[in-house]
Amino acid sequence: MKRIGAHVSAAGGVENAPLNAAKLGATAFAFFTKNQRQWKAKPLTEESIEAFKVNCETHGFLPGHILPHDSYLINLGHPEEEGLVKSRAAFVDEMARVRQLGLDRLNFHPGSHLNKLDEQACVARIAESINRAHREVEGVCAVIENTAGQGTNMGYCFEHLRDIIDRVVDKSRVGVCLDTCHTFTAGYDLRTVAACHDTFALFDSLVGFSYLKGMHLNDSKPELGKRVDRHESVGKGKLGHEVFRYIMNDPRFDEIPMVLETPDDGLWREELMLLRSFC
Ligand SMILES: [Zn+2]
Ligand SMILES: [Zn+2]
Repeated sequence: MKRIGAHVSAAGGVENAPLNAAKLGATAFAFFTKNQRQWKAKPLTEESIEAFKVNCETHGFLPGHILPHDSYLINLGHPEEEGLVKSRAAFVDEMARVRQLGLDRLNFHPGSHLNKLDEQACVARIAESINRAHREVEGVCAVIENTAGQGTNMGYCFEHLRDIIDRVVDKSRVGVCLDTCHTFTAGYDLRTVAACHDTFALFDSLVGFSYLKGMHLNDSKPELGKRVDRHESVGKGKLGHEVFRYIMNDPRFDEIPMVLETPDDGLWREELMLLRSFC
């Protein structure tokens, strides 16, 4: 079965995320376990953790259908010692929060070389950051998101994802999340059935669907290959409907969290209904 939802607000406490997802009629959701624009966060309280678990259970959300996203400040491939140390510590804290909530995966952007490292050195640094986090926190899969390749962001080609995974020691705790907007603006066409077939076949040969632990279902404001990260509501951007119809009918996308990160949350309910209508 397809598990679809949105990246919902956790304002007022993480326990509100499953409630917000349930209001949308979602069967999956994403959320931030802390403010995504700050380094430090108060630890999760016992009450909040317990309420989160109860709310997930009440509304039928299993850990495998929930995709927490880490802070935007973290750069696991940071070229400088200070930024790298700070990022690695914050990532471990995020993983620990995910673990406390009884969840099994954490979605993150691989990192940026900031024009101070070459790409392969940055890849090695990102992989080492994942290995270190694995040694600190058990039971959480590090889910690398592909990027649009804006600025000096790594992860805009499937080879980057493959090369990071190659260097991760515990392959059972590393995975990937494909963002349809990022995939498209990074240069992989998804506008027709044939293009979807080719792009996902390439992904399968370079990375492998066994590593796919989540999807971000976003249409794109920019054209193919612009390497700019601007999401659009499903069906209103340059991607069109075909890729979403393709994903909703392909069993390789079953049982993973697939979430909207589209700009108008007032449209999410309609977007989810549209996605369901494709099956
Ligand atoms: Zn993301
Ligand atoms: Zn995304």
